[in-house]
Amino acid sequence: MLKDMNRRILAIDIGGSSVKACQAIVRDSAMSWDSISTHPLTTASIDALRQLVSKIAETHREFDAVGISTAGTVDLNGQVIRAGAFDGYEMFSWRDEFAHMGLNLPVAVLNDGQAATLAEFDARAERRRQNTVHFVVGTGVGGGAVVDGKLLRGETGYAGALGHIKIISGPEALECGCRGHGCVQTVASARAVVAASSISSLDDREIIALRAAMAEGGRWLGRAIGSAINAFNPGLVTIGGGLIEADKALSQDDGGFGPYTSAAFAEAKRSSLGASGKVASLTTGVLGNEAGIRGASLAALKLIQI
Ligand SMILES: [Zn+2]
Repeated sequence: MLKDMNRRILAIDIGGSSVKACQAIVRDSAMSWDSISTHPLTTASIDALRQLVSKIAETHREFDAVGISTAGTVDLNGQVIRAGAFDGYEMFSWRDEFAHMGLNLPVAVLNDGQAATLAEFDARAERRRQNTVHFVVGTGVGGGAVVDGKLLRGETGYAGALGHIKIISGPEALECGCRGHGCVQTVASARAVVAASSISSLDDREIIALRAAMAEGGRWLGRAIGSAINAFNPGLVTIGGGLIEADKALSQDDGGFGPYTSAAFAEAKRSSLGASGKVASLTTGVLGNEAGIRGASLAALKLIQI
């Protein structure tokens, strides 16, 4: 009985250059998180990643379930289909991996965009919005949607590839990592903004250039947000991720949005249909870089809840 009231989840967030880990403790139905440890990855090989996760599992020892948020495409069985960030991270099962470590536990695996979406939705559940869309803007652009109160997984688990909404066509359209052209992440991601600003220091002139590049990237994202509003009719759209955190530092009024976020929301209003645009509140995520790991633990909690 006591065990049921106090369960532990090992939560892991696998990014391209580091792995974050923490324990989530579930008492009754409330969840709390201990401090997050960050482990840098020096090589992008699946073997280095496997060794690191095995070491993390050993350190934490006692847990009842595992929740993983990972870069890449994940199917409904939690199998990683493909993740460009790592060599050999294909058709990979973390459930089998933990079983090989002698840990036959429930293992939930979500794509990092879906995990962040679930966490941001849960963090605002008291507001009773049942339809939300979340964009994660970092090196690339990802995200997810909650539809009628449930994380949208899609027919095979791949829903939420918001970075590949096509917003540019013709000769202007840049090639994307997906090999398509004109995807929003080619012009709105941190990588695109850094390339457009081409700054080398942070003097006043360069800050102005950076602000302009941020606003331009934000405008492009706003177009994709507008399309998502038209497709999903959400009550709330949130944006988060590394670039949005950096954008806050460029805000000119205390606590206000930075140039990227302001431009994104203005363009989203322009690009969405009037009726849907009116009901969609637009704001930034509240969980910062903890969104992925929190979403991973929430997904694992579902597996052990009776
Ligand atoms: Zn693409």
